[in-house]
Amino acid sequence: MNYPEPLEALIQELKKLPGVGQRTAERLAFHLLNQPEEEVELLREALRAIKAEIVLCRECFNFAEARGPDERGALCGICRDPGRDRSVICVVSHPQELWKIEKTGGYPGLYHVLGGLISPLRDVHPEDLHIEELMARLRRGDVREVILALDPTVEGEHTSLYLARQIKPLGILTTRIAQGVPIGRDLEFTDEATLSRALQGRVTL
Ligand SMILES: [Zn+2]
Repeated sequence: MNYPEPLEALIQELKKLPGVGQRTAERLAFHLLNQPEEEVELLREALRAIKAEIVLCRECFNFAEARGPDERGALCGICRDPGRDRSVICVVSHPQELWKIEKTGGYPGLYHVLGGLISPLRDVHPEDLHIEELMARLRRGDVREVILALDPTVEGEHTSLYLARQIKPLGILTTRIAQGVPIGRDLEFTDEATLSRALQGRVTL
């Protein structure tokens, strides 16, 4: 006896989510089926909005809300915040890591999201990442320190060294967070205190 087709289709979609297996997918699907129409509509609207209303920040490539037809593109809440220290930029590979650092509450500066790490094996080269945009920001002259917060993997190291070499001629201090602290999106459970200490204990490259 199979589930009715729409129910089965929902279960199959839910199973594509990370950490959701058959049993969890079934539980969620039955839960939604039992919800009033208005509740399901809220979920439907939230799902629609993340694709329709979130774009990448034109400055730092963090997620930003698309607001109105600004032809220069949207700015994220961090770049718009006049209280942030514009002389420090923390470089991360993905927005998830930016949010992890934000949660420590101890970082006052701006960010730059690369969109990945340099990896010749996976055919990811510097020009595939937002490196040129970072260099353009640095050439504007307001930044005195760049903090590299990339994963302590071969790819993270390679990317850090590449960036340090690019930044050095500009005479801007380049540091990295204390070594051995994994902040990658796969390692979601680096606790905030550890990350906070890693930011404090950064070293010059
Ligand atoms: Zn931004």
